[in-house]
Amino acid sequence: MTPVSPQHSPLLAKELAQSHAKRSLERCKILSTLSQMQGGIHREYLSKQHKECNRVTATWMSDAGMQTWQDEVGNLWGRLESTDPNAKRLIIGSHLDTVPNAGAYDGILGVLLAIEVAALAHKLKLELPFHLDVVGFCDEEGTRFATTLIGSKALANEFDPQWLNIEDTSGVTMRQAMLDFGLTPDDFTKAALNKNQLLGYWETHIEQGPVLESVNQALGVVTAIAGAKRAMISLTGQSGHAGTTPMNLRQDSLAGCAELTLAIEQLAKHAKNGEVATVGQIHARPGATNVIAGTTTISLDARAQNDQDLTKLLTAIQSSAEQIAKQRNLTLDWQWTHAADAVACDEKIQQLFASACKFNQQASPALASGAGHDAMAIAAICPVGMLFIRSPGGISHHPAEAVIDDDVTKALSVLYSSLVLYVKELNS
Ligand SMILES: [Zn+2]
Repeated sequence: MTPVSPQHSPLLAKELAQSHAKRSLERCKILSTLSQMQGGIHREYLSKQHKECNRVTATWMSDAGMQTWQDEVGNLWGRLESTDPNAKRLIIGSHLDTVPNAGAYDGILGVLLAIEVAALAHKLKLELPFHLDVVGFCDEEGTRFATTLIGSKALANEFDPQWLNIEDTSGVTMRQAMLDFGLTPDDFTKAALNKNQLLGYWETHIEQGPVLESVNQALGVVTAIAGAKRAMISLTGQSGHAGTTPMNLRQDSLAGCAELTLAIEQLAKHAKNGEVATVGQIHARPGATNVIAGTTTISLDARAQNDQDLTKLLTAIQSSAEQIAKQRNLTLDWQWTHAADAVACDEKIQQLFASACKFNQQASPALASGAGHDAMAIAAICPVGMLFIRSPGGISHHPAEAVIDDDVTKALSVLYSSLVLYVKELNS
């Protein structure tokens, strides 16, 4: 039996993994200073800070042995080249933009860990049968132009030219912002990737929820990104005087919406596959203390791991709403405002991540992502996989967002092992 050379072992030496993980965390801190808000982190698409973030991150990519470029919509790329110039591409990354008053790790850590994996592959002279492309997506959060996944949708050739006319809150169009950034807006189609050249997309991301913490595990393998549907639901009855209208003669839309809110909670609680449903807004009109609400509107956000489960839940919610409206003599109006299909993560990539976890004596609980990610858009052009890192307290999109250093070391080790195992698989 030929001994496995240290260069080609899927296992990283602990100290090496620790030092590279530490560097990725230090870099998260550095990027957190590139913020357009005082006293917090906010870095939106096509801002000066986005430009600076791409510049700084590109220097780290270069130091890791990669060639770098920025594509036509502002995504940052680094490539560790295969010896075969016609090789296909394996993409690893996440996003570099943030919500207002963000934490330091959402998206960012996934990009920086990908750079460390490339740096290690370069340092340990891993021969790649594919180009290892690290991507830092330009806009996942969609905070500036009210449309999300701009960077990843451009890769999937789903950039909508109408977006160029969307204005931010200061009245600047996306077209103008792209020009100011130094991009050529009408070239956006050039950012699209040829799917025949793609092997897959891997993303490491903080979980942004409490599941891994609740099972006391550092890492999890994502099975699917939940599909979501949103609606605004209105019940209309009759406004009336709070003092003179007897209880049995009321058509109280607010009480109807309250009953519906509790019904939604119960229906989601009793669903079988981790479906979730949330009423996050309620608006009663006319909205006076001494007036029975004539019309009340609530928001609904429902999510599930697959589209059938989501449809089943929403059908139950709709029939419950119809029943409540009928019993209370109210009129029901239902407006859909958003729909995104569930995206399954690739089975083979899930197995690869699970094997890599095993190599590292690490459990690999499977879990679904309730939040959206760039992988959703990329799934249209190649197989996708995601590795989650425990989020202490389940907190994200908040300055208190955190990670445990040792979890990050484990994530880097598993990601590196996945790369080596994948290379071996392709070479066998
Ligand atoms: Zn994110």
